[in-house]
Amino acid sequence: MAGPDLVHLVAGEDVRYTLTGKALETWLPSLLAACDGRQSVETLVADAPAARRDDALSLVDRLYGERILVDGDAQAAHTPQARQLEVEGAGPLFERLRGHMGIATLPPLALLVQDRLDPEAALRFNERCLGGDRPWLWVSTGALARGYVSQVFLPGVGPCLGCLFEHFRRLTPTPELHDALREHARQGGAIPAVPFPTEGMGMLASIVDWKVAQLSLSEPSPALYRLHVLDATSLEVATHRVLADESCPWCGADAA
Ligand SMILES: [Zn+2]
Repeated sequence: MAGPDLVHLVAGEDVRYTLTGKALETWLPSLLAACDGRQSVETLVADAPAARRDDALSLVDRLYGERILVDGDAQAAHTPQARQLEVEGAGPLFERLRGHMGIATLPPLALLVQDRLDPEAALRFNERCLGGDRPWLWVSTGALARGYVSQVFLPGVGPCLGCLFEHFRRLTPTPELHDALREHARQGGAIPAVPFPTEGMGMLASIVDWKVAQLSLSEPSPALYRLHVLDATSLEVATHRVLADESCPWCGADAA
């Protein structure tokens, strides 16, 4: 609800916020309406009158701080993209997926396949992808008891692979193992590959192919942007939604 120099934010019958400022009613309602999770703050603010952009930025900052505005997720930002795998990594699943790369006619979807528990290599891959303009995906059988196919990560929106690793760290009773493995790898230490059932690898490869196909659809399954977890013993598959982590050292607010 807008009036001279003010905008009320209303939820149900309650006025939750009253924001005031010179001529606020002329630009703020359209800016808030455009906050659909698909555009960056920079793009949204660029549509405000030039003289009001600083006000707009500080207002967005305040509303974000108070969780009135929240980050858009990858699903909201989805646009159909026909892409083909560009695979790196090692092991039998890597060999298998490398055969799915096809002839290079489509733009790439970067994929790292890991057959060992090597978070350092995964995070270096994530860093490279964060600096690029193509989506990325991570597949691992390194946890031995479980195989993972990550959600498709998109540049500039939603979680990154670092967010997923932070999620794992919070769940594990031994987060120091993750740090010790990274340090071991940084010192040049070898990390051995681990075995995984062949049938399980086939299922992980199928999930990867399915995600590549889903990425090209205008209305993909929400599972495109979910983590798939395959139990190596029972071959049961579950999916999990992993959100962007504000404290993620790679893509979060304080990322270098
Ligand atoms: Zn992140």
